[in-house]
Amino acid sequence: MLDFIRPDLIQLQAYTPHPGGEPTGPLDILDTNESPVDLPPELKAKLAWLYQETIATNRYPDGSHHHLKASIANYVNESASTQAIAPDWISVGNGSDELIRSVLIATCLGGEGSIYVAEPTFSMYGIIAETLGISVIRGQRLADFSMDLAAAKTQVVAPVRVVFVVHPNSPTANALTAAEIDWLRSLPPEILVVIDEAYFEFSQTTLAAELPQHPNWIILRTFSKAFRLAALRVGYAIAHPSVTQILEKVRLPYNLPAFTQAGAELALQHRGLLLSAIAPLQEQRQQMIASLTALPPLLVFPSAANFVYVRLREGGNPELAAIAAALKAEGTLIRHTGGGLRITIGTAAENERAIARLTAYLHR
Ligand SMILES: *Cc1c(COP(=O)(O)O)cnc(C)c1O
Repeated sequence: MLDFIRPDLIQLQAYTPHPGGEPTGPLDILDTNESPVDLPPELKAKLAWLYQETIATNRYPDGSHHHLKASIANYVNESASTQAIAPDWISVGNGSDELIRSVLIATCLGGEGSIYVAEPTFSMYGIIAETLGISVIRGQRLADFSMDLAAAKTQVVAPVRVVFVVHPNSPTANALTAAEIDWLRSLPPEILVVIDEAYFEFSQTTLAAELPQHPNWIILRTFSKAFRLAALRVGYAIAHPSVTQILEKVRLPYNLPAFTQAGAELALQHRGLLLSAIAPLQEQRQQMIASLTALPPLLVFPSAANFVYVRLREGGNPELAAIAAALKAEGTLIRHTGGGLRITIGTAAENERAIARLTAYLHR
């Protein structure tokens, strides 16, 4: 059976965000790090109007992403206090997942190279690499979740071609340290450094201003988190034009639907409104951290993102899985990953229910 399929793919498990089956019913979704609030109704109405009046569904979308790239470049410059990023420094993907795949196709396909990730981190780098038959070198982190740089220095050598880091990291919520950033700066030009800033709007720390000095760096960002557009699938890469040109070669010609492009443009036009939700969310995060810290079995880590990571002082994965399952049964989804629990900051009511359910479980 299926003798025509690559044997390594037969072994591979398909990625499922909810391994126990798709959740149904009214649930507090605190396991996927999206914004807890939808677009404001007036923006949704505007987007519906744009769809009605300006999008011809019989026509292919703009395959050059011309306007969107200009708008993104403008936002990136503003966000990094630089002028250096022109539209040709941007490449747009169907979610940053597509860009991760483009990077892997462009660098390592055909048995040519492998990638390096320090675990725990975003699982998609390893998952997409494995679908392409690319091997993954896995490094370790220290107790504060910064990378074990001494080990990384010996691991990031040929055949490694790409290092993936998240700034701040998921699931552990820590931003890159000065020592980690220095190490990234020191990597030789034959290593590509991918800095995933999916949570930039929550951390307000970016390396974008340094891109001109580092032609071997790519920064990834997404509209799926702070910009509330996870349903529309749009992410972008920022890099030297010689690198974005390669990403443009690799992507599918019409990777971004017209509606998605309109949604991203609209979100950027109204970024003041959308991003005004960040400060209250950061306050919710501090409250969540305080409430979790009051539960003695939990070890709570600092967060520069829109989620909080906890581990158990005693007990391992079976207990963590039991906690996640108990909360799910009560109606709160959280993520059991990397030897801990990752809890997205939701609305105030969702956060309170999560804390109440967790407290009840731990005191049972
Ligand atoms: C959520 C997330 C993304 C976003 O992926 P999209 O495909 O743009 O939705 C990218 N990287 C990390 C680390 C994330 O957590």
